[in-house]
Amino acid sequence: MCGIIGYIGKSQAKDLLIDGLRRLEYRGYDSSGIAVRDNGELCVLKAKGKLDNLIGKLEERSFSGTCGIGHTRWATHGAPDELNAHPHLSRSGKFAIVHNGIIENYKELCDMLISQGYSLRSETDSEVIAHLIELGYDGDALKAIQKTVKLLKGSFALGILCADENALFAVKKDSPLVIGSGEDGIYIASDMQALLSKTHEFLLLESGEMAKITDKAEIFDFDLRPVKRQVYVAENDKSDADKHGYAHFMLKEIYEQPEAIERTLLSQGELSFLDGIGSIHLIGCGSAYHAALMGKYIIESLTGIRVHADIASEFRYRNPIIKPDDLLIAISQSGETADTIGAMNIAAGKCKTACIVNVPLSSLTHVAEPMYTYAGPEIAVATTKGFTTQLVNLYLIAAKLLSNKGDSRVNELMTELSSLPLLVENVLKTVSPVKLAFLLAQNDYAFFIGRGADYAAAKESALKLKEISYIHADCYPAGELKHGTISLIQKGSPVIAIATDKQLLSKTVSNIAEVKSRGAFVIAVSPFDIDACDALIKIPYAKYVAPLLASVATQLLSYHTALVRHCEIDKPRNLAKSVTVE
Ligand code: GLU
Repeated sequence: MCGIIGYIGKSQAKDLLIDGLRRLEYRGYDSSGIAVRDNGELCVLKAKGKLDNLIGKLEERSFSGTCGIGHTRWATHGAPDELNAHPHLSRSGKFAIVHNGIIENYKELCDMLISQGYSLRSETDSEVIAHLIELGYDGDALKAIQKTVKLLKGSFALGILCADENALFAVKKDSPLVIGSGEDGIYIASDMQALLSKTHEFLLLESGEMAKITDKAEIFDFDLRPVKRQVYVAENDKSDADKHGYAHFMLKEIYEQPEAIERTLLSQGELSFLDGIGSIHLIGCGSAYHAALMGKYIIESLTGIRVHADIASEFRYRNPIIKPDDLLIAISQSGETADTIGAMNIAAGKCKTACIVNVPLSSLTHVAEPMYTYAGPEIAVATTKGFTTQLVNLYLIAAKLLSNKGDSRVNELMTELSSLPLLVENVLKTVSPVKLAFLLAQNDYAFFIGRGADYAAAKESALKLKEISYIHADCYPAGELKHGTISLIQKGSPVIAIATDKQLLSKTVSNIAEVKSRGAFVIAVSPFDIDACDALIKIPYAKYVAPLLASVATQLLSYHTALVRHCEIDKPRNLAKSVTVE
């Protein structure tokens, strides 16, 4: 993760860099920093924590120069403090670098540098890059950078300044980076979104490429062979970086779901990647994995096609069995999740591949057939509309597979899906979990249970509560609790039971009774009246999409609980939205 921004042009760089960092802050907020080239000298300023801390420091300092780089960090190596904040300077101060990714061989490189008399100032894996460039420098910065990238193992998007040259350098290997040319200069950034207020014209760097940017951008491969790249013109910025009266982006995004779902339902193409497939692998991390798990229940039970749901970071290293007629679908809101890309690379060439992503032209779309979600940009770190639109695509996949089989249930499913925006709107209007949130907020743990697709919904609900309210939540298939964890249930233990499936209702109700009789306080999320529970969050009845509706209801519950606990809802501690490191 982490966000990189860079600028070279006619305007003062400082404010443009800060504006870019503001738009990239969702990628990490452990620290931030900028470096600007001023009359052949590199000036650096960094601050621990959120960007506002850096802005506060900038008020006390003048910072001029028309070429600069900036960084907002999600620490992988070294504490999230000022010392480890980027940009990192080389020993003499001639080079400044910002880095997104992980340098896997940084220890060896450190040892090599130390043997040459260097000493490292930070604990990061990134600082070595600045020193290595300086070590290889003989008056040509581009060459020194090229020599350095050949030494690096791992993933790295880099923005680099050299005190001797009025140029901005960019490098991309397995981490995102784009070049955008605006009226007042040329930018680099970790995503297009950060630059859409400045330009719609982009040069999309590929992995294994670098660029020297002056009043033009020249792209090279890692052997310094020039590369020609067509300009990509991005669509208008439909994002809304304004909260529009909502207290948090998360709440705004929860309420945007009916629209986001409608757009996603209406915008799908042929889905021809589903033709003639054997079994399906659904791969994701975090909430995207929960979408995969729910997709498994939905697709398997409706179509009889075998679906494996896997956590991407596990899948990629466990030698998975992949058959030629399998289809692997990677799910990632950003399309940049490093573990998911890694899993995709395992499958590439072995079977058909597709991806469910929200960000156009993101890395996954270069290697697999994209099936987009149309959630629009999601700013809150904890996903809501990103997750539910992923589910929509999985329901559409189930529908297409039913239709391929000539199964008439496709009509019933599609009818229900077309009413989904209204059903979600109904949940948003009727569910008011404030009282329950006050109750939940008093606890430092909670349990979630559910059966079938409701188990996947319960897992996502538990994650949401953990992410934003810092209440530990454990989730179990409803029938599994009694096989061990029930020992933790005592008087007042909160248990949230999701029960939307009519067929499984009596089983889940029995599980509710089991925990109730041991003193639990049970909140059921269900379209049915469940007498056994202490409180009921009632959602509309739906034959297929009810687990999705339950997820929306628990988003509200988690949001209000976090609110009661005065948590930083949009930017929970230690998290970042787009996880571009392993
Ligand atoms: N590995 C670098 C660090 O810890 C960069 C992390 C990132 O990409 O966010 O500073």
